[in-house]
This record gives sequence, structure tokens and C-alpha cells, in this order.
Amino acid sequence: MPTTADKLKERFGAQYKDNESLAKHVNFRIGGPAKYFVEARSTQDLIDAVKIAQEYALPYFILGGGSNTLVADEGYQGLVIKAANRNTRYEGDLVTAEAGVISATVARGSADKGLRGFEWAVSLPGTIGGAVRGNAGCFGGEVKDNLVSVKLLRDGEVIDVPAADMHYGYRHSVLKESGHEQDVILEATFKLTPGDRTEALALIEKNLAGRKASQPLGSSSAGCMFKNYEYSSDEEIQKIISKVEIPQAMKDMHRLGAGWIIDQLGLKGTKMGEAQIAPQHGNFLLNVGHASARDIVTLISFVKTRARDEFGVQLHEEVQYLGF
Ligand SMILES: Cc1cc2nc3c(=O)[nH]c(=O)nc-3n(C[C@H](O)[C@H](O)[C@H](O)COP(=O)(O)OP(=O)(O)OC[C@H]3O[C@@H](n4cnc5c(N)ncnc54)[C@H](O)[C@@H]3O)c2cc1C
Repeated sequence: MPTTADKLKERFGAQYKDNESLAKHVNFRIGGPAKYFVEARSTQDLIDAVKIAQEYALPYFILGGGSNTLVADEGYQGLVIKAANRNTRYEGDLVTAEAGVISATVARGSADKGLRGFEWAVSLPGTIGGAVRGNAGCFGGEVKDNLVSVKLLRDGEVIDVPAADMHYGYRHSVLKESGHEQDVILEATFKLTPGDRTEALALIEKNLAGRKASQPLGSSSAGCMFKNYEYSSDEEIQKIISKVEIPQAMKDMHRLGAGWIIDQLGLKGTKMGEAQIAPQHGNFLLNVGHASARDIVTLISFVKTRARDEFGVQLHEEVQYLGF
């Protein structure tokens, strides 16, 4: 039997690399190498790479744009498959994008065709695959709002899964549930609403400006580090209620902004090594130089401990860990 590297080289040629630095494939610019790395330029590439990993009992990880991933300093001992299948099809009010298509490209492309409903995604970094897995959202929109179906590779078979079976919730999908973590998104179909092109393009610009005003741009981060804190009754948040005034909008949604919590703790700007909580936005952790994954993880633990001890709130990471 040929070695794993030989098999990958034979199938993927120059699209295969060993010991590829992952720091250059993720927004954080942090992390060690992947022992095996394949750039999947087509959906068939994605399927074949997964099949080879399974044949060799090799762990694999699908990387999209790397905008929500923190890679360990030691790297990853398995196969990283970078989704770079980038075709998009428009049919009437339906748009089907392959997993490796950049989400912002779909937002712009649809708006340009006068299709409404995806403008929110114009400032979302990363790919459709990453967005569909995490039910990404901003500016009042979320993937689940327009999703019709997803083509998945599950247990070696290609299947069409209707949106209802994706188990969508806040930054949640079935792919985060036990037994489905290895499912691979191949493409996704969205249903948009025909409308006014000029209005759609104006909203695109407005959303881009909104992002510029609210978040640190051009820094190395993974976007929001923690999920906002959802609660069902005031009893659950007694400790924080006794210490600070909760804004009405958060009370109405039964959701405390993680950035707001970190701000109330007075932690904006805190630095550990070369990792820093953004001075402008408490939920953004930045690599301000040559931070290690260890620096980031230390800062994450510090924030979680303070939130738990002072406010009785257990924060959970939105970022996905690789190689830890
Ligand atoms: C500056 C900045 C701002 C951000 N703002 C927002 C925001 O407003 N709202 C928001 O929701 N997010 C935000 N994020 C987070 C991130 O952009 C989203 O989560 C994005 O959808 C991730 O896509 P990606 O392709 O980069 O995912 P990656 O980081 O590459 O991967 C994330 C996870 O998805 C999995 N994955 C990726 N592709 C596939 C696939 N084809 N099949 C199966 N699994 C797959 C990976 O294995 C990993 O577990 C922000 C990030 C940054 C850096």
C-alpha cells in the first residue's frame, strides 16, 4: 500500500503539500503546520480527499477561509482539506454556492442581480461552508433565514439535506452535534427575494460602513471570540443583575452580549503576551504581533474565569479549535 503522502501526491499533485504552515491560512496568523494539506479546487477534490483520509484512518479537518479557527502552536497531525471549490449558480431566485465560495461574493453577486436577503453577509469573512456550519449572521441576518438545502458528504455518501434538518440555532447547526462533526458541506442553496438592485447595492455599502464603524478592521482575529450569553430567566443572571444595569435590548432578547460583559468587567485592552482584547470591542481578541496560540488561550481562560467569578456567567467560545 502506498504511504498517505504518496497517495495524496498521486491524486492531487501540486495541490498537495506536507508540513504546510497553517498560520498563513487563518485570519489569526497563528498556528503550526498541517502534516498533510490539500487544496480542494472542486467538489470532487473535496470528496476524494475525505475518502483518502478515511481509507488511511487519518483525522481530517475542512478549512474554509480560516476566519473562525484557532490553530495550536504544534499544528495538526492529520489532513487539512482547504475548501477552494468556488462556483456559484443562479437560477431564478435561487443561488447555489459551492462550499469554498467567499460569503461576501455571494452577497455582492446576488445584490447585483437584484436578489434581496443576503446583503448582510457582505462584511462576513470566510466561506459559505464555514457560514453554513456555524449559522453565521450579522446586521439582523443569519444563514438559516434564506437557506433551502445543503449538499453534504456524510458517511461516504453525498446527500441533500433540507434546511429544517440542519437543526439551526444561534451559531449552531447539526454539524456541531455528536455523530455529525465529520460531515462535509459541499454546497448550499439559498432562496432570495427579487427586488430593487439599487436598494440592494445601497444596503451592501451601508453594511460595509456599519462594520467599519463597529469593529477593528485589518487586525488578526477570529471575529467574535465568545457566543453571546443566552438565558431563560432572571434567576439565572442574579449575580450580574445585582452588580450592573442590563440594557433593555438585551433583556428583551434574553441574550447578554459577550462584548458587553467583557466591557463591564473592565477588560477591554487587556494584553497577555502579544494577544490583546481589542480596545474598541470586548469580544475581539487580537494577535497584535507574534502572538502564540498559547497567548490567545491564556487570555480566553482569563476572560472566562473573570466572567464566571464576578458575574456568574459561563462564556463559551465561538471560535473552532484545531490541533489542541
Ligand atoms: C473580523 C471578523 C469578523 C467576523 N464577524 C462575524 C459576524 O459578524 N458574524 C459571524 O457569524 N461570524 C463572524 N466572524 C466569524 C467568521 O467569519 C464566520 O464564522 C465564518 O462564517 C467562518 O467561515 P470560514 O470559512 O472562515 O470558516 P473556518 O474558520 O475556515 O472554519 C470554521 C469551522 O467551520 C468548519 N468548516 C468550514 N468549511 C466547512 C465545510 N465545507 N464543511 C464542513 N465544515 C466546514 C471548519 O472545520 C471549522 O470547524 C468574523 C470573523 C472575523 C475574522
